[in-house]
Amino acid sequence: MRVVICGAGIAGLTLGNLLSERDWEVTIVDHAPAPRTAGYMVDFFGLGYDAAERMGLLPRLTELGYDVPWADFVDDSGRGRARLSYDRFARAVNGKLLSIMRPDLELALRERLPGQLEMRYGTTVSAIDERDDIVRAQLSDGSEIEADLLVGADGIHSTVRGLMFGDEQRFFRYLGMQTAAYTFDAPEVRARLGDGFALTDTAQRMMGCYGLRDGTVAVFATHYRDEPALPADIPAFLREEYGSLGWIVPTALARMPEEHEIYYDQVAQVDVPQWSTGRVTLIGDACQAVSLLAGQGASLAMAGAYVLASCLSDASSVTGALRRYETHWRPVVVDKQRAGRRGAEWFLPRSRGRVLARRAMLRLSAIPGVERMLGASVTGKNAVRLDDISAERLTTTG
Ligand SMILES: Cc1cc2nc3c(=O)[nH]c(=O)nc-3n(C[C@H](O)[C@H](O)[C@H](O)COP(=O)(O)OP(=O)(O)OC[C@H]3O[C@@H](n4cnc5c(N)ncnc54)[C@H](O)[C@@H]3O)c2cc1C
Repeated sequence: MRVVICGAGIAGLTLGNLLSERDWEVTIVDHAPAPRTAGYMVDFFGLGYDAAERMGLLPRLTELGYDVPWADFVDDSGRGRARLSYDRFARAVNGKLLSIMRPDLELALRERLPGQLEMRYGTTVSAIDERDDIVRAQLSDGSEIEADLLVGADGIHSTVRGLMFGDEQRFFRYLGMQTAAYTFDAPEVRARLGDGFALTDTAQRMMGCYGLRDGTVAVFATHYRDEPALPADIPAFLREEYGSLGWIVPTALARMPEEHEIYYDQVAQVDVPQWSTGRVTLIGDACQAVSLLAGQGASLAMAGAYVLASCLSDASSVTGALRRYETHWRPVVVDKQRAGRRGAEWFLPRSRGRVLARRAMLRLSAIPGVERMLGASVTGKNAVRLDDISAERLTTTG
């Protein structure tokens, strides 16, 4: 069996690994000229953590990850006003929690790809020709591949989804915020941060920072913006938007890298009415983006790829496997997206009153019963296990 995967991110690399193990011939294409090295810290827990465990990835992820003791919400002078202990967070998700830079998560997945897998950077899918028994992917390098399956794992602005269904705006649920992430070099800030994660305790806009082991600082910033269109000059916009914040924010703005090294996008969810057509399907953010508000996009990208691989290995037909994948996985995604939207006001309060309410909530979260509620709110209402939606059960329920 042969598959073309468009996108060498978390979803695409996970699927590439799993299908290679099942003797599929795998080609992965990615439009970036090389693996992405820029990124941001992700908290990795939930179903993706379980998938990583099954794949034997945890030792390497733990090695590359960071031991973050807490998240501190700080005022203009850097004084902590509220604290979320990562021990408590870990307990709320059954101890299964990692903090890791997204490029390191991808690195761990790339390292275990088999030698015979074909990886083509600087290439994308430019056209799709579907037949009953085969799909032809035309690539931007002028070549064409005939495969049993084509998978769009090319992120929130998926080109494969565009070729399948047209204009992306129809599938976007803009959540009224935009976000930026980059790394910068400032030894004095790195020393001040220590090992903790620190965020401004502010309304309307906030900036959070992690110190990295190479001595640099990873920053992400999120603000409300009614207008979904991205600003024309992103560095200038960020300087203006965050210029009034204190603490280390002026240094983070002054040391901002060039625009092409800054991640900047809408905070949005993706809701596509149908994930597959014939032998073409979508995984990861391309069909299921939950947004950073849910804090689980990377985890779900890995878990969704795991579920698809399970369906494909159990199926007698590719199209039947794609139907089962969507039937079993979509309800999980819908639940996490809902949890993400519910958490928006806690993630970024709109008013000073809400900031104070969040402080009170964080104090309460030290109480065991509230800790369990916190667990339910970060993982989504339904505590689904990977076993419920993959492997054996799917062979009998499909
Ligand atoms: C600031 C921020 C913080 C976050 N924090 C967390 C967190 O704490 N926990 C968590 O689990 N998730 C978090 N997320 C979400 C998470 O990063 C994403 O959900 C996850 O990266 C999705 O993985 P993916 O593989 O589907 O897509 P992506 O990571 O977007 O990868 C897509 C890949 O496809 C490639 N590509 C794109 N377009 C094309 C094309 N046309 N042709 C070929 N290749 C293409 C890209 O180069 C890339 O390699 C956060 C996101 C942001 C922005």
